Amino acid sequence: AVPGGSSNLKQVKLDRESELRIEVSDEPLRLRVVNGTAEIFGAELPPEIWRTFPPRLKFAVFTWYGATIEMDGVTETDYTADETPMVSYVNVHAILDARRRFAKASTSTDSDSPQGPRVIVVGPTDSGKSTLTKMLISWAAKQGWKPTFVDLDVGQGSITIPGSIAATPIEMPLDPVEGFPLDMALVYYYGHTTPANNVELYKTMVKELAQVLERQFLGNPESRAAGMVINTMGWIDGIGYELLLHAIETFNASVVLVLGQEKLFSMLKDVLKSKSNVDVVKLHKSGGVVARNRDYRKVARSSRIQEYFYGLSKELSPYANTSSFSDVQVFRIGGGPQAPRSALPIGSDPVSNPLRVTPVNIEERDLLHSILAVSYAEEPDQIVSSNVSGFVYVTEVDVLRKKITYLAPSPGALPSKILVAGSLTWLESH
Ligand code: ADP
Repeated sequence: AVPGGSSNLKQVKLDRESELRIEVSDEPLRLRVVNGTAEIFGAELPPEIWRTFPPRLKFAVFTWYGATIEMDGVTETDYTADETPMVSYVNVHAILDARRRFAKASTSTDSDSPQGPRVIVVGPTDSGKSTLTKMLISWAAKQGWKPTFVDLDVGQGSITIPGSIAATPIEMPLDPVEGFPLDMALVYYYGHTTPANNVELYKTMVKELAQVLERQFLGNPESRAAGMVINTMGWIDGIGYELLLHAIETFNASVVLVLGQEKLFSMLKDVLKSKSNVDVVKLHKSGGVVARNRDYRKVARSSRIQEYFYGLSKELSPYANTSSFSDVQVFRIGGGPQAPRSALPIGSDPVSNPLRVTPVNIEERDLLHSILAVSYAEEPDQIVSSNVSGFVYVTEVDVLRKKITYLAPSPGALPSKILVAGSLTWLESH
C-alpha cells in the first residue's frame, strides 16, 4: 500500500488480445502484471514489478496471450476492451521487419542498395498516431533494430518541448512512463506550436533534419537498415495536407500509414499512385484513443515544458543563471521588417522574408516567460540550418541593470551565446 494513503487494490483478468484502458485521475496510479505477459504501447511490462503512472496519463495495457493486472489507486476510468486494431498493427510491424532484414542482408556501401522502411504515420488529431509510432518503434527495438524516430509535430512534441522538430535513434523499447529518450536527439527549434506561423521556415527545418539523417544513414548501415518511423501533426487539410506531402517527399517515405480517415487515405493513395516504391496503407483507429480538447492540449504542452526543466515528477531542479544583455545574442526568424516602410532604403522590398534572421533588442521586446533555444550556429546566418543544444526559460529581464535571468536544465555557461526566440512562452505554475 502507499504509505499514508489508503490502498485501493483491484485485479483485472485480461483475455488474449484484449486491453485494459486507463485514464489516470489527478493522483498517480500504481500498476503491475501479476500473471502472464502484457505491454503498454509495444513495450513489455516486467512481471510483478509495480510501476507508478503520473496523473492524467491515458494508456492501455494490452496482452497477446492473457494476463492478470493489478492496480493500486483510483482511476478516472478503466475498462477492458477486446476489440482492438492491434493485430493489424502488428501485421504492419511484421512487414516492416521483413524489409529491415532484406535491407540488412544486402547492406553495401552503394547508396542505391535497398534500405530499411521509412514509415510515416498520418491522420487527424486524436487518431492514435503517436501511439502507433511508439508501438512500431518499441516492437522494432525489441527485435534488436535501432530505428530512428522522427517527430514533426510542433504542437505537442514527443522527444522534447513543443515548437521543435526532432529525431532520435531508439535502441530499446520505450519506457511507458518516460517515453522517448532525449540524450541523443537531433533538435531543430521552429519556435511556434503550429506550422501556420511560418510555413516556409517549417518546411526548411524539415528539410534540414531530413538531410542530416540522410547523411547519418550513409555512414551507418545499421540505422539505414532499421529505417525511420515518422510522426506527423494532425493538421491534414489545406496547407496541412501540403505539408504532409512535403514530409513524405522530403524523407523519401516508403510506407504511409493513414489512421482513421478514409478521405485522407484516398487522396494520398491517388497522388502517390505514380510512385511504385511508396505503399499507402489504411489502418483503423483504436477505440481506446482519447480525444483531447484544445485546453487539454494546452495543458499537455505546458507540462512538456515543465518536464524539460523539472523532470517528469519534479525530481530535477533547473539552474537559474543571470547574464548581461551583452553576453547573449537573441535572434528571431521570419516576420516583417521591424523598420517602417519609410525607413527602408528606396526600392527595398518590405514584404517579410520568412527565413530572415533578425537580432532581437532585449530592451525593447518583451522576452519575459519566453522559451529560447540555444543554437549550435556559430554565426547568425547559420541559425536556420543549425540544430539546438537545448532550451532556456526567461524568468526575469532587468532593463535598468541590463541583465537577463533564465532557467537552464544544466549549470554553468551556455554552450553558445546565440539564442533563438519564437512565439513559445510558458507560465510556470507552482
Ligand atoms: P494523435 O497522435 O493522433 O493525436 P495519440 O496517439 O496521442 O493521438 O492518442 C491520443 C490519446 O489517447 C493519448 O493520450 C494516448 O495515450 C491515448 N490512447 C491511444 N490509444 C489508446 C488505447 N488503446 N487505450 C487508451 N488510451 C489510448
